[in-house]
Amino acid sequence: MKILNLNEGSFPIKLNLELDKLSVPEIGKLKEDLKIEAKISKISKNILNCDGDIHGVFIDICQNCLNETEVVIINKIEVAIKDIKELLIDSSNQDQTHYQDLEFFNIESFIEEEVALIYPNIVKCSEDCNTEESVYETERNLPFKKIRDLID
Ligand SMILES: [Zn+2]
Repeated sequence: MKILNLNEGSFPIKLNLELDKLSVPEIGKLKEDLKIEAKISKISKNILNCDGDIHGVFIDICQNCLNETEVVIINKIEVAIKDIKELLIDSSNQDQTHYQDLEFFNIESFIEEEVALIYPNIVKCSEDCNTEESVYETERNLPFKKIRDLID
C-alpha cells in the first residue's frame, strides 16, 4: 500500500505505477499489470489535480455468450483531488473529484476508484454479440437447451 502525504513535499509529484491486483468489485481479472503514468499538481491548499494515463488489460466474461473476453482500458485521468474534510462543505457537485485524507493519501484507493469509474458497465466479446439471442437462450431450461445443441 502506497501512502503519500499530499500536504507536504514538492509538486508536481510524478506517478509511475504498475499494479498487479485491484480490489474493485465486479470487474475482470488483470491480465497484465495495470499501468499508471500521471502527475499530481497542487492547485491550492486542500485541492490538487491529477492528470495522466491509465492502461489495463482485463479478462472478463461476455455478458451475452459467457465466453472469456479481453477488456482493454486506455484512458486519460483528469481528476481533482480534495481533502475529505472538503466533502461536507463542497457544493460544486463535481463528478470528477476524488476525496481522501491528503495527509495519508492512498494511491491504490485512488486508482481503484478511477478504474471503477472507467470500467465498462457492459462487457461484450464483440459489438455484435447478440443480446436478444442470449436472453432467448437463458430463458430456456437446461435439458432442453442440451438437446437443442445436439441437434444443431
Ligand atoms: Zn459474446
